[in-house]
Amino acid sequence: MRIKVIGGGLSGCEAALQLADAGHEVDLHEMRPRVQTPAHKTGDLAELVCSNSFKGLARTGAHGLLKEELGRLGSKLLPLAYAARVPAGESLAIDREAFSAKVREAVESRSAIRLVREEVRALDPDAWTILATGPLTSESLAQDLFSRVSESGGKRLFFFDSIAPVVTAESLDHEILYARNRWDKGDAPDFLNVPLNEEEYHAFVDALVAADTVEAKPFEKGQLFEGCLPIEEMARRGRETLRFGPMRPIGLPDPRTGADPFAVIQLRAENAQKTLYNLVGFQTRLKWGTQKEILTRIPGLRAAEFARFGAMHRNTFLDAPKVLEHTLRLKGTKIFCAGQITGAEGYTEALSTGLYAASMLHAALRDETAARNFRWPEGTCIRALTEHLTYPNADFQPMNFNFGLLPVRDGWRKSQRKEMQIKTCVEAWEGFDPMG
Ligand SMILES: Cc1cc2nc3c(=O)[nH]c(=O)nc-3n(C[C@H](O)[C@H](O)[C@H](O)COP(=O)(O)OP(=O)(O)OC[C@H]3O[C@@H](n4cnc5c(N)ncnc54)[C@H](O)[C@@H]3O)c2cc1C
Repeated sequence: MRIKVIGGGLSGCEAALQLADAGHEVDLHEMRPRVQTPAHKTGDLAELVCSNSFKGLARTGAHGLLKEELGRLGSKLLPLAYAARVPAGESLAIDREAFSAKVREAVESRSAIRLVREEVRALDPDAWTILATGPLTSESLAQDLFSRVSESGGKRLFFFDSIAPVVTAESLDHEILYARNRWDKGDAPDFLNVPLNEEEYHAFVDALVAADTVEAKPFEKGQLFEGCLPIEEMARRGRETLRFGPMRPIGLPDPRTGADPFAVIQLRAENAQKTLYNLVGFQTRLKWGTQKEILTRIPGLRAAEFARFGAMHRNTFLDAPKVLEHTLRLKGTKIFCAGQITGAEGYTEALSTGLYAASMLHAALRDETAARNFRWPEGTCIRALTEHLTYPNADFQPMNFNFGLLPVRDGWRKSQRKEMQIKTCVEAWEGFDPMG
């Protein structure tokens, strides 16, 4: 019996490798490059569609702790991300092509995995399946899926988010930019910074407020993902919003003046050769011509060549609390879900739910009845995340992992809460094997 993993993205590749190493035969279906999504650019496995960052590494931050948990529990893709790392201060940023190449090598090295390059247009109710087709699930499969879940009251949900532009390093004015990490963290500077004075900043905000965006249809309005707001939307929310968001200058003094500029645009290397840089936090849905026009008015970016413009996309996700069991299994089926289709937002979360769904499917194949009561240890990040996804919620929205999801025990003082949550996690990992 072969397990079907649909989607060769972050969560699908994690799940396929887990299942293969646990002794299962896997068909991994990936529709690209034959059928493309609106955001992917290649036919590569585990292609990152926007930022090249898996976020922070420090255990005291939610994504650092989640990464440590993934490492302890045997994630297959996380070590490949470390192996494709590019310098980015306290964050795990990667060379996306090198990472995808390592994922492909890992998949090809498992004889139990058969990579099938085709679009799956409908679910097979008789096949044990991991559905990991992500926020840009192809339309025919999405329609089949949502017609099935509508019987259990789950409707199709979606929101909009946007991706940031990437520019070539050689087109930047290095006389104006300066290299520095915020608070000088890390050994060597990984970020380039574009300083803006007060006048330049206000002119930029005015231009954003007046700019042409790619219009959402009327019924689609107001469904932006709050964790990934376009810069023009931030500018419209208040004149200072950007200066307290992606353009905050604090901790980034210009070495030529010794003072923090009024505002800063940060650029982070996209690849190990540092030939491409992305504008950090500058996701946008401005029309391409407008992006170019507004961004090239900024000193330092006047001759910028765009390797990729920012864009807006519709993200589909399930009404998880209604249609998924705590195991991320679609109620009444043999299908387990992973990645952003479950409402778990973010790259690290995609790896987490890929590992979790593989663990739950593996358990179900051993003993279906016992598996329904199988729970990961209380206090782990991934249990907390999946509980959030499946907890009754009439206004369910995608979410990143954060400390607010971890349980708080009676008697913990507020000042020690985070420390205790971390300790509980670390203890809960001891001796737990998700694929055991
Ligand atoms: C435009 C955009 C930007 C994002 N930016 C970020 C970011 O900067 N940082 C972050 O942490 N998260 C970001 N996300 C959110 C999300 O975490 C990522 O999309 C993440 O890659 C989700 O992992 P996944 O495995 O669920 O889906 P994906 O990585 O998208 O993988 C799904 C795979 O399924 C394939 N597929 C789809 N339909 C079919 C089908 N019918 N048959 C076969 N294959 C199919 C796709 O081609 C794709 O390879 C972004 C999402 C989008 C849409």
